[in-house]
Amino acid sequence: MKNCPYCKAPGKFYFKISSRTYNRCSGCDLIYKESQDSYDKVVAHYRNDYFEQYSADQMGGKRDRLFDKILGLIEKRSGTGRLLDIGAGCGVFLVAAQKRGWEVKGIEPSIQSVEVAQGQYGLDIYNGTLQEYDENGKFDVITFINVLDHSVEPWKEIDKASLLLKSGGILYLRFPNGLFHSFLFKVSKKLNIEQTIAKFLVFHECCFTPRFIRRLLSDYGFGNIEVYNASLSGGSLISSFPLFSFITRSIEIMGKLTDLVSGGRVLWGPSLEVVARKR
Ligand SMILES: [Zn+2]
Repeated sequence: MKNCPYCKAPGKFYFKISSRTYNRCSGCDLIYKESQDSYDKVVAHYRNDYFEQYSADQMGGKRDRLFDKILGLIEKRSGTGRLLDIGAGCGVFLVAAQKRGWEVKGIEPSIQSVEVAQGQYGLDIYNGTLQEYDENGKFDVITFINVLDHSVEPWKEIDKASLLLKSGGILYLRFPNGLFHSFLFKVSKKLNIEQTIAKFLVFHECCFTPRFIRRLLSDYGFGNIEVYNASLSGGSLISSFPLFSFITRSIEIMGKLTDLVSGGRVLWGPSLEVVARKR
């Protein structure tokens, strides 16, 4: 069995979904694929195919409420300033930020997405990856909204983001809750309904647990690390399946109740969000 790609400690088999096996690290708690795709293959996918599959989900105002919530959370800690969004897509989040007074830039590998962001919204988006990006001025805030778990080596992205942030700058992450999704998958497998449930679950290159993300950020010089249950985004899955909408709303309400009862200490929602400050 392959050792953890981050801390090199041994991992244990965690679950298998179709042909993909995920292990869980005994050291840092990362949930990682036994055989990872190459960096180049993953980047090529986002450069070439992603727009066609997901652009409709990004446009059309479905996520406006979510983006305002995210910006509100950040502004409470930093005010406005220079913001860089990684995996900016068509730039809808950046448009929302601009309206609230931010000076915005984005990075996006998909050529078609960048064309929309530039042509339709007049945004300043770099067409490429974070690793290729070179910028002199530093940022007050860097955001990764449902992006980091697509990365083969997310620690390299965090390292680069840290370089681009001002000292005291804010890092915002949003990603699927690895424990939540793998738990639901395991339960549905026991009940023999995993075929139905699996399409609503999200497993990318890595699955993050709260313990892993805290370890990762503190290893790369971040402090004041806050981890929360995130509210749902209202993407196409939710609107096209009434039953799924019912289930996710119930889950969201359960997450909120858990927050209330536990004072936000129990991280049991489909998505997590993290705010941290560069030391
Ligand atoms: Zn590890």
